[in-house]
Amino acid sequence: MSNYRPETICVQGGYTPGSGEPRQIPIIQSTTFKYATSEEMGKLFDLEASGYFYTRLQNPTNDYVAAKIAQLEGGTAGMLTSSGQAANFFALFNIASCGDHIVASSSIYGGTFNLISVTMAKMGVACTFVGPTCTDEELERAFRPNTKLVFGETIANPALTVFDIERFAKAAHRHGVPLIVDNTFATPVGCRPFQWGADIVTHSTTKYMDGHGAAVGGAVVDSGKFDWLAHAEKFPGLCTPDDSYHGVTYAEKFGREGAFITKCTAQLMRDFGSIQAPQHAFLLNLGLESLHVRMARHCENGQAVAEFLSRHPKVETVHYCGLPGDPYYALGQKYLPHGSCGVVSFELKGGRAAAEVFMSNLKLAAIETHVADARTCCLNPATSTHRQMTDAQLQEAGIPAGLVRMSCGLEHQDDLIEDISQALEAI
Ligand SMILES: *Cc1c(COP(=O)(O)O)cnc(C)c1O
Repeated sequence: MSNYRPETICVQGGYTPGSGEPRQIPIIQSTTFKYATSEEMGKLFDLEASGYFYTRLQNPTNDYVAAKIAQLEGGTAGMLTSSGQAANFFALFNIASCGDHIVASSSIYGGTFNLISVTMAKMGVACTFVGPTCTDEELERAFRPNTKLVFGETIANPALTVFDIERFAKAAHRHGVPLIVDNTFATPVGCRPFQWGADIVTHSTTKYMDGHGAAVGGAVVDSGKFDWLAHAEKFPGLCTPDDSYHGVTYAEKFGREGAFITKCTAQLMRDFGSIQAPQHAFLLNLGLESLHVRMARHCENGQAVAEFLSRHPKVETVHYCGLPGDPYYALGQKYLPHGSCGVVSFELKGGRAAAEVFMSNLKLAAIETHVADARTCCLNPATSTHRQMTDAQLQEAGIPAGLVRMSCGLEHQDDLIEDISQALEAI
């Protein structure tokens, strides 16, 4: 299935029923799986055989959907998590632990910024943030002897900067560490980070992949390309025996293709238990079946709204990499040639107060802490998702206090533009 184009994988990937089996992915609504002998089940616990014994670790419904996402990204293995937050935490913590250091783009989702700068810092993982357009010297200076990975977002939520994946991958690899890319906003339909050198991809499937505001979820995909054993001293968790799993050495036993996701499942899912419910995986798969069709419309609507806003006298600036004047236009053309996404950020003349009037006058676009839904929604990050950040941090992350983030849904673009137009008149 991996040889097919993303459009075909969206529809048919991950699950291939045999004769007489259900056409749609079955929801395996069972916490446990039965075995005839203890010996048979023991092999699963020893990671000697693959199979199911407890849904906290693995469930067939989840695995079908994880396999589809892995195929879409062109990776070798994938896993679902209960949320995008869990996916990013698992991807980071599977490599970096107490005493380690990571390098991250400062232009990332607010939840991930908190995860890294507050919670993971408490766990002893230090981070140096660099701007997505930092100089080569700044990027080089960010690395330390104990740096274990580099992290960024293809299209940052909500700043809408475009991450130069190839450049950051080369820097990471020069230092013998992997690049993790959160590909939530682009989706594999828009960009496949592995083609540009990324090693691991994460998703909040809550966004476009689900696409209907129905189920919170996340995913982690491994490219299978990073050679852990070539830098074994940096990655003891993957390259030395795991005492909590009968002394298995993941990189040796499961190779480049399987080590990362197997360790992530066997250790982190076992201990943190952030599973996606099989029901949610089923809903996610329904979203994935139309992802390629929906993304095209989200991108068209985003482009049309961005162009309209950029011509409007009450709008100060518009951030959308599909606009030729945008600082990220060139990177957008390189990494997102078929369009970026449906999310447009813009600053109104009159800042926070104007944003408030504008948003309260919208009829179609609802005020929501959400993006990437079939229904258009909008948000003022400074007073909601990013309210933990100081004004200085907001500025550094490219999110001024008066910024409005609008997620264009699947409605007719003329209706959206008419709604935006009348709300702008109200300011
Ligand atoms: C929403 C989001 C997350 C967090 O995902 P949840 O599913 O809400 O936990 C992470 N990264 C990006 C880019 C997001 O947009």
